[in-house]
Amino acid sequence: MASSDGKQALEQVDAEVRSCRLCPLWRSRTKAVPGEGAVDAEIMFVGEAPGGDEDRQGRPFVGAAGRVLAEQLKKIGIDRQRVFITNVVKCRPEGNRDPSPAEIEACRDHLLTQIAIINPRVICTLGRFAARTLIDNRISITREHGKPRRISGILYLPIYHPAAALHQARLIDSLESDFRQLRAVLDDAAGTAPAPQTAIDA
Ligand code: SF4
Repeated sequence: MASSDGKQALEQVDAEVRSCRLCPLWRSRTKAVPGEGAVDAEIMFVGEAPGGDEDRQGRPFVGAAGRVLAEQLKKIGIDRQRVFITNVVKCRPEGNRDPSPAEIEACRDHLLTQIAIINPRVICTLGRFAARTLIDNRISITREHGKPRRISGILYLPIYHPAAALHQARLIDSLESDFRQLRAVLDDAAGTAPAPQTAIDA
């Protein structure tokens, strides 16, 4: 899709999300959070749901977890402006509870449309909910984080959610290792580095 067409298509998704009432989460949102980033992004990050800061600002990953994400991106030399960041559900579940299966299902088409427009090389799922929505509904992040899988031409890399590293300091090493794996996957795709861990075809 030409970049201008893609931008227009993403703006259309934004407008649909901001007026969406497909699940009950619209009732308690301050602002819906469609996602943001480059329409021609090579990498998409998909988290779980907006938190309090995101709900107030209408932007993804602007709170403490966003700072962890930004730090990790900087460490591997990736500009946040060059990626696209969104969540599985676009409106905040009250009290930051887990999104329900019905809410994830209701919001799924918004996410799939964004993926189709951006057509990224790599999708990094952040945490269990995104991995189970996009990769495998039984995946274990503890066992599978950092292991790329190719599905329908897109490379998926499940990694820990940055918020998990805020709550459990021991996970920061795993998160850093996952981001190094992301760097290796991108370098491999560009033909500038030794092959990272082999992707499993799903
Ligand atoms: S969470 Fe998704 S499906 Fe539910 S109201 Fe918000 S945009 Fe619509």
